[in-house]
Amino acid sequence: MFTEFLRTSIPGRAVTGGLVSVNLVNLRDFGRGNYRQLDDYAFGSGGMVLAAPQMKDALDSLSREPGRKPFVVYPSPQGVLISQEIIETLALQEDVAIICGHYEGIDERFVSSYVDLEVSIGDCVLTGGEIPAMLIVDAMSRLVPGVVGKGKAVIEDSFYRGMLDNPNYTRPYEWEGLKVPEVLTGGNEHDISRWRRREAIRRTLTRRPDLVSRASVREYISGVNVAVIAESENVDFAGLSETCNAYGAGRPYIVAGNRELREVMKSKIPSAKIVGSVGKILDTLGEGTMIVKAASSARRNALHSLEAKRMCLEHDGGVLFVFAESDEALDEVDGIEAYVFTDGNDVAMGVRIGIALDRFLGKR
Ligand code: SAM
Repeated sequence: MFTEFLRTSIPGRAVTGGLVSVNLVNLRDFGRGNYRQLDDYAFGSGGMVLAAPQMKDALDSLSREPGRKPFVVYPSPQGVLISQEIIETLALQEDVAIICGHYEGIDERFVSSYVDLEVSIGDCVLTGGEIPAMLIVDAMSRLVPGVVGKGKAVIEDSFYRGMLDNPNYTRPYEWEGLKVPEVLTGGNEHDISRWRRREAIRRTLTRRPDLVSRASVREYISGVNVAVIAESENVDFAGLSETCNAYGAGRPYIVAGNRELREVMKSKIPSAKIVGSVGKILDTLGEGTMIVKAASSARRNALHSLEAKRMCLEHDGGVLFVFAESDEALDEVDGIEAYVFTDGNDVAMGVRIGIALDRFLGKR
């Protein structure tokens, strides 16, 4: 089963090109007795089970260097459901051993003592672990630099950032009366990327809304800005500018109602843009900007931060996150309100904003 797979297509190129190395171990070589026996009757049920000592011998044969142990994966319908995050974790390991089960599976004592990760490829039962093993090798190889021609293609694939990919088209331009979306043939790079982003969002929200919570969405939101309404001189802005920069939010806005406070803010946080009202920010950013007021508690009519994250994605335009020292100040601003819990009562404003931005935009 494996020889052809490892010779063919992209995984084949990865192996023959030396980017990925796969060693096949035949369990039968570790069988016992004249019949090279690997399995035995299951206590209590009668099906066949792969026996622990033979499995252990096979596993030991892989540890060529003292102290260098592979990360052991057992594909099994009872494992955690496979995901891109698991594949990324496996791709970071030096050596991965994948043990293909058969019959009723493997003796539980071996699984609990030597398996690092039991992983299922879906809620169905196959006859053996070979196809899941190939799936794992295939998905891992795509992450090895150089295996897939265009590195960017991997990043844009479904799940890489946690979102689904946009639909794809190729020639002919018209087929069975169906045309390729015009924007894709218009040659305007900006319009094309916008279309692709919007389609990826639409697909993810309609087909897999569950993915949004763990998706990295910064690239899907056209513009992000942060405003903090300051009511006193005491706000602790430590780290605010760096945080905004890290999340692609540019220089933060500080909103201060009176002139004196604005002067104080100018010297306190020189990298910020100091303004008199949120309205002034909108004059610059434009009417299409969606305002998300970030509160630190769940108040009436507020949205869970995940719900707000979904709405930011649905919105076709920029987002302005507004923070304030007090809830009353937030009440003065029009926009949706989302709450982001921050543990600890006295978390500094700069830190609170960091936590909130990470909840909405952070890499997952
Ligand atoms: N008795 C097992 C159970 O009910 O969980 C099923 C064993 S299955 C017939 C034989 C082998 O196929 C398993 O040990 C496993 O390696 C592999 N296998 C079957 N379905 C799988 C799935 N959904 N994901 C990963 N591996 C699977």
